[in-house]
Amino acid sequence: MASASSLFLASPISTAPRTRTPATPFTLSPARPSLRLRQQPTAVAAALQTEHQPAVAAAPKPKPPALPFRVGHGFDLHRLEPGLPLIIGGISIPHDRGCEAHSDGDVLLHCVVDAILGALGLPDIGQIFPDTDPRWKGAESSVFMREAVKLMHQAGYELGNIDATLILQKPKISPFKETIRSNLCDLLGADPSVVNLKAKTHEKVDSLGENRSIAAHTVVLLMRK
Ligand SMILES: [Zn+2]
Repeated sequence: MASASSLFLASPISTAPRTRTPATPFTLSPARPSLRLRQQPTAVAAALQTEHQPAVAAAPKPKPPALPFRVGHGFDLHRLEPGLPLIIGGISIPHDRGCEAHSDGDVLLHCVVDAILGALGLPDIGQIFPDTDPRWKGAESSVFMREAVKLMHQAGYELGNIDATLILQKPKISPFKETIRSNLCDLLGADPSVVNLKAKTHEKVDSLGENRSIAAHTVVLLMRK
């Protein structure tokens, strides 16, 4: 503090702001006007006013420019219950159980929707399509996908690429993987070269590995049009 004070006294106006730490204005401010006023009341008051104007009366910040790229992550998990249809990526998959959900329980599409919404900085799928709304009861998740894609275009973005991972113990997804990916491409209006789909088991551990649930992760990159 001693050095700050001596610097301040030696060069009261021009040097002080540049040599202080960000915290010092709050601790030194009460003392500064009185010190300065004893020396050059008018000039110092004017200088202080000018000096503080940008911080105190700053003009509203201009809107930041739209980002050239935006990244989003989606995650979803559903409980599997016997007797329900299993829909993944809009495709019906033969299995002895399916997803418990308000809509059709399509874990992959929900996850992709959330990734797109996340990239756009929007609320998640549960907020935009709440499960308390009877309109979405039993709804096909392709409805949510089309809405997310529409929001993406309205915001001025298009799909860069997408990478999704399904996690389930049963059934084996490989026979259906290309059909699922193809449907995903159609819903996204995207070339297959930018839509990747992986599937893995959960090593027979936890609910995922015990065929009691199914989950998916998605990362999406959007590009400014
Ligand atoms: Zn879901």
